[in-house]
Amino acid sequence: MKNYKCQKCDASFNEQTAEHQEAGKHIKIVCPVCGFYIGFAQTADELGKNYVIEFGKHSGKTLGEIEASEPGYIAFLARGRGKVARYCQKRLESKNTNRNRQLAGKNQK
Ligand SMILES: [Zn+2]
Repeated sequence: MKNYKCQKCDASFNEQTAEHQEAGKHIKIVCPVCGFYIGFAQTADELGKNYVIEFGKHSGKTLGEIEASEPGYIAFLARGRGKVARYCQKRLESKNTNRNRQLAGKNQK
Protein backbone atom coordinates (compact mmCIF):
# COMPACT_ATOMS: atom_id res chain seq x y z
CA MET A 1 0.00 0.00 0.00
CA LYS A 2 1.26 3.45 -0.94
CA ASN A 3 1.75 6.07 1.74
CA TYR A 4 1.36 9.77 1.13
CA LYS A 5 2.26 12.91 2.98
CA CYS A 6 0.46 16.17 2.38
CA GLN A 7 2.85 18.96 1.45
CA LYS A 8 0.45 21.56 2.70
CA CYS A 9 -0.69 20.37 6.14
CA ASP A 10 1.78 17.50 6.77
CA ALA A 11 -0.96 14.92 7.25
CA SER A 12 0.08 11.32 6.62
CA PHE A 13 -2.28 8.90 4.99
CA ASN A 14 -2.24 5.93 2.70
CA GLU A 15 -3.94 4.72 -0.42
CA GLN A 16 -6.96 3.50 1.47
CA THR A 17 -7.49 6.43 3.81
CA ALA A 18 -6.80 9.05 1.14
CA GLU A 19 -9.63 11.05 -0.28
CA HIS A 20 -10.34 10.02 -3.85
CA GLN A 21 -12.03 12.08 -6.48
CA GLU A 22 -13.04 10.64 -9.78
CA ALA A 23 -11.72 12.51 -12.79
CA GLY A 24 -12.95 10.66 -15.80
CA LYS A 25 -11.33 7.26 -15.96
CA HIS A 26 -8.65 8.29 -13.46
CA ILE A 27 -8.67 8.89 -9.76
CA LYS A 28 -7.32 12.02 -8.17
CA ILE A 29 -5.82 11.70 -4.70
CA VAL A 30 -6.42 14.63 -2.39
CA CYS A 31 -5.47 15.13 1.25
CA PRO A 32 -8.27 13.85 3.52
CA VAL A 33 -7.56 16.70 5.98
CA CYS A 34 -7.16 19.84 3.87
CA GLY A 35 -8.14 18.71 0.38
CA PHE A 36 -4.75 19.55 -1.15
CA TYR A 37 -4.13 17.85 -4.50
CA ILE A 38 -1.59 15.03 -4.12
CA GLY A 39 -1.54 13.34 -7.47
CA PHE A 40 -3.22 10.85 -9.68
CA ALA A 41 -3.81 7.32 -8.49
CA GLN A 42 -4.62 4.24 -10.41
CA THR A 43 -7.67 4.12 -12.59
CA ALA A 44 -10.96 3.60 -10.79
CA ASP A 45 -10.88 0.10 -12.10
CA GLU A 46 -7.49 -0.75 -10.57
CA LEU A 47 -8.29 0.98 -7.34
CA GLY A 48 -11.36 -1.15 -6.87
CA LYS A 49 -9.44 -4.27 -7.78
CA ASN A 50 -6.83 -3.64 -5.08
CA TYR A 51 -9.23 -2.46 -2.41
CA VAL A 52 -9.15 -4.67 0.69
CA ILE A 53 -12.47 -5.19 2.36
CA GLU A 54 -12.56 -5.43 6.14
CA PHE A 55 -15.83 -7.13 6.82
CA GLY A 56 -17.82 -10.21 5.93
CA LYS A 57 -16.66 -13.65 5.01
CA HIS A 58 -14.01 -12.33 2.60
CA SER A 59 -12.49 -9.89 5.09
CA GLY A 60 -8.82 -9.18 4.32
CA LYS A 61 -9.09 -9.97 0.64
CA THR A 62 -9.02 -7.54 -2.25
CA LEU A 63 -12.05 -7.10 -4.45
CA GLY A 64 -9.99 -8.53 -7.31
CA GLU A 65 -9.35 -11.72 -5.34
CA ILE A 66 -12.99 -12.03 -4.39
CA GLU A 67 -13.99 -11.43 -7.97
CA ALA A 68 -11.81 -14.32 -9.05
CA SER A 69 -13.10 -16.74 -6.42
CA GLU A 70 -16.71 -15.67 -5.99
CA PRO A 71 -17.96 -13.19 -8.60
CA GLY A 72 -21.46 -13.33 -7.16
CA TYR A 73 -20.21 -11.68 -3.97
CA ILE A 74 -19.09 -8.62 -5.96
CA ALA A 75 -22.58 -8.31 -7.38
CA PHE A 76 -23.94 -8.66 -3.85
CA LEU A 77 -21.65 -5.90 -2.50
CA ALA A 78 -22.48 -3.66 -5.45
CA ARG A 79 -26.07 -3.50 -4.25
CA GLY A 80 -24.95 -1.89 -0.99
CA ARG A 81 -23.91 1.66 -0.29
CA GLY A 82 -20.66 3.55 0.12
CA LYS A 83 -17.15 3.22 -1.26
CA VAL A 84 -17.03 -0.57 -1.47
CA ALA A 85 -20.34 -0.72 -3.30
CA ARG A 86 -19.12 1.92 -5.76
CA TYR A 87 -15.93 -0.02 -6.44
CA CYS A 88 -17.92 -3.19 -6.96
CA GLN A 89 -20.20 -1.38 -9.37
CA LYS A 90 -17.08 -0.25 -11.26
CA ARG A 91 -15.81 -3.83 -11.36
CA LEU A 92 -19.09 -5.00 -12.82
CA GLU A 93 -19.20 -2.09 -15.25
CA SER A 94 -15.70 -2.68 -16.55
CA LYS A 95 -16.49 -6.35 -16.99
CA ASN A 96 -19.55 -5.49 -19.03
CA THR A 97 -17.62 -2.95 -21.06
CA ASN A 98 -14.94 -5.51 -21.88
CA ARG A 99 -17.56 -8.03 -22.86
CA ASN A 100 -19.33 -5.50 -25.05
CA ARG A 101 -16.02 -4.61 -26.69
CA GLN A 102 -15.35 -8.25 -27.42
CA LEU A 103 -18.82 -8.64 -28.87
CA ALA A 104 -18.40 -5.52 -30.96
CA GLY A 105 -15.09 -6.88 -32.24
CA LYS A 106 -16.71 -10.13 -33.25
CA ASN A 107 -19.56 -8.38 -35.01
CA GLN A 108 -17.16 -6.34 -37.10
CA LYS A 109 -15.68 -9.44 -38.73
ZN1 LIG B 1 -3.33 18.37 3.78
